[in-house]
Amino acid sequence: GVPIALHIFFFQAVASPPSSNFLLLGPSGAGKTAFTTLLEAKSSLAPTKSHSTHTSQQSTLVTVTLPPTVPTGSNRYRSDNDPSLTEAMRNPIKYRVRDTPGHGKLRVSQGISELQTMSQSKDIKTRLRGVVFMVDTAALVDEATLRDTATYLHDVLLFLQKRAKNGSSSKRTTDIPVLVAANKQDLFTALPPGAVREKLEAEIDRIRKSKTKGLLDASADTGLEDEEEILGNDEQETFSFKLLEHEVGIKVDVVGGAVKGDLQEEFGSGVRRWEEWVGMCL
Ligand code: GDP
Repeated sequence: GVPIALHIFFFQAVASPPSSNFLLLGPSGAGKTAFTTLLEAKSSLAPTKSHSTHTSQQSTLVTVTLPPTVPTGSNRYRSDNDPSLTEAMRNPIKYRVRDTPGHGKLRVSQGISELQTMSQSKDIKTRLRGVVFMVDTAALVDEATLRDTATYLHDVLLFLQKRAKNGSSSKRTTDIPVLVAANKQDLFTALPPGAVREKLEAEIDRIRKSKTKGLLDASADTGLEDEEEILGNDEQETFSFKLLEHEVGIKVDVVGGAVKGDLQEEFGSGVRRWEEWVGMCL
């Protein structure tokens, strides 16, 4: 609680308050801390030393800047000689990233509850613009890691699905898109983003199937009509992110990148496409 208040105080006191929040989720070891550290370094916001107190047990909030050459959703057609580029260089767009720990039990309590808190914000200034779900694409060949990662992603998406449904038509909830940041593409053992998408979809499909079966068994036992939802609704269909977008309106993009390694030769270029995704949300 206290560190968050301190951060907010700090931003209000020093910089103009940044208004766009992104939540960084994903299993432990995916590269979340490395990513936020890199974004901070790229932004060269020297006074924001939030990571000096960072332990893997706490979530941290950092304010970073979008590179001026990255187009934003509201300014999509910015070209190199556009005056808005000069403006963007003079007054770079800031956004906030909340990093969350990814360890087994903590991630549910902290990651999902963070998602809950941030997505419920009514204030347009602090509302959640998007979720970045980071995965280690070299680790997904391991069955247990794949299952663990897909379970976490499933829970995040199911939360967003419930949120989307609960929004009454009068006060429609704004969509929160999800970026699956397929990290560590520099490693030669890494699965390409297309394969990452397929593996996650297939695994989420299995999770859905076993959940449906579990619910049937449970309701047979207790006689209770459990109204538990199925991710993507249509349980006859095989799960895919397209199905989720079509049925529920939640958009999931899988985009490759690398926080470390050779792709970083050009400083920060390995995360460029994720920054472009962030820009599109702004
Ligand atoms: P977190 O638990 O999600 O915060 O993961 P960390 O940021 O602590 O990263 C876990 C490990 O993966 C660290 O040793 C990082 O240096 C390494 N790592 C992060 N990103 C990359 C990447 O893009 N490529 C490679 N090769 N290693 C990475």
